[in-house]
Amino acid sequence: MQEKSVAIDGPAGAGKSTLARALARELGYLYVDTGAIYRTVALRAWEAGADPSDPEQIAPLLKGLDLRMDYGADGVQRMYLSGRDVTEAIRVHQISGLASQVAALPPVRDFLLDFQRRQAMEHDVVMDGRDIGTVVLPRAGVKIFLTAAPEARAERRLLELRQRGQEAEFDAVLSDILRRDEQDRTRAVAPLRQAEDAVLLDTTELDRAGSLEALLAIVREGLSR
Ligand code: C5P
Repeated sequence: MQEKSVAIDGPAGAGKSTLARALARELGYLYVDTGAIYRTVALRAWEAGADPSDPEQIAPLLKGLDLRMDYGADGVQRMYLSGRDVTEAIRVHQISGLASQVAALPPVRDFLLDFQRRQAMEHDVVMDGRDIGTVVLPRAGVKIFLTAAPEARAERRLLELRQRGQEAEFDAVLSDILRRDEQDRTRAVAPLRQAEDAVLLDTTELDRAGSLEALLAIVREGLSR
């Protein structure tokens, strides 16, 4: 039910997925990472050799798109494209930029809106993304806008990439984050912005435990209202 759900939005690298996952575990909710869904569409576009910014090339791909999501025994969200498990493939660096491009296209957003809302109808969810509090779940019980200074976000993203065995430079990661922020904030449809009734949480000065504590306090207060 939407009124019991938690919507978390914010820019790239703010720690949304790590914190949302931990929060969902704490509440006994399902965690839905909507970025992974956009990434899967981006992978499809990439494999088809389509221009990710051209709606005329991307819209036809959506028609036959076989997109599926489920949860492994470890509770981790897995994405499937035409039956193939693409959970790891969508995490590569190039897909981040492509996801941001396809995500700016109205046909892509329309197509994924129902897909995302269905999850919140079937389960109590912690859902994270860019437009969850503003568009996908406007009646969410608690809305949080999670952010941090770009340098802090780049530092965290760099660490995450390295943990996955991907080499990257700080400057390149920072400029990628700034470019994606700009693209996500300035697009015409469902741009990244804080919902009027969202609570702002800036984690620049907080470590993971401190961020989770702050987040839990906001959520408990919000859900008890
Ligand atoms: O969250 P993540 O970095 O995996 O998202 C990849 C891209 O997907 C974002 O840069 C954004 O452009 C897009 N996205 C979106 N709306 C969402 C989730 C992700 O536009 N709800």
